[in-house]
Amino acid sequence: MELSDPADPVRRLLPHPVTGELFVSPVPPGTGWPDDPAGAATRVATNPGAVRRIAAAGQSLEELQAGISVCRACPRLVEWREQVAVTKRASFADQPYWGRPVPGWGADEPRILVVGLAPAAQGGNRTGRVFTGDRSGDWLFASLHRVGLASQPTSEHAGDGLGLRGVRILAAVRCAPPANKPTTQERDTCAPWLDAELSLVLPSVRAVVALGGFGWEAALKALIARGYAAPPPRPKFGHGSQAILRPATTNGAADGGEVVLFGCYHPSQQNTFTGRLTEPMLDDVLGAAARIGLAG
Ligand code: SF4
Repeated sequence: MELSDPADPVRRLLPHPVTGELFVSPVPPGTGWPDDPAGAATRVATNPGAVRRIAAAGQSLEELQAGISVCRACPRLVEWREQVAVTKRASFADQPYWGRPVPGWGADEPRILVVGLAPAAQGGNRTGRVFTGDRSGDWLFASLHRVGLASQPTSEHAGDGLGLRGVRILAAVRCAPPANKPTTQERDTCAPWLDAELSLVLPSVRAVVALGGFGWEAALKALIARGYAAPPPRPKFGHGSQAILRPATTNGAADGGEVVLFGCYHPSQQNTFTGRLTEPMLDDVLGAAARIGLAG
């Protein structure tokens, strides 16, 4: 069978919307997708123990991103992300789908972290870039642009020239889950990737924006695991809630400064359609994070 077989949804080669290069779906590592951190030789985690080992061994952000982007440790999510990548939504039928875990994206030494839940099946799972190509991302990047943290208000495809100012965006779970709901086991299996990424970037971070309660809990847990102390009682998620976390001196894990954790309703359509989250509400939180993150 030829590599490009229009009758076979897996082998069908389609052009990337920005570069025009041809890809099968899901995209094999190291074949030229914009910002693909992995290569054909990148180690693949196929179970929770391997996620822990490979995440702990990642000495650099590049190495870690590569490992994340080829992970296959959650059977249900691997099946779902790849199934979506070959069946595609009708409006994107002429595009290749990334169909792999979506790594963090943005500044390597960020001042501000934005932590979401998981990639969208037809968004990040299609474009390979977090919050890119879906309605939630439309809201998020428009707001980041309004508060001076993004070079353009839209984020439609990897390789579109978008730049962020001191911001890194990541998801607590790196694969698109059915109905946007990862299981507790999937969340826990994916947590070492978040812990490892935070270990590498936290020294420069001053503000963390958690989008939704899931992102809040994941960020709080990861910060505490990295040696940051939350004031008692344990801070609760709410829109506009803030908690100051300070590096604990007892275990020496944290080597950064004070971090302010902000709670923000997730810019999901469920929240934006109903008016639970408005543009000024999102701008208020991201603007406050920008003032703290970029100060000094
Ligand atoms: Fe791997 Fe996380 Fe995806 Fe599970 S959700 S397969 S741990 S990247």
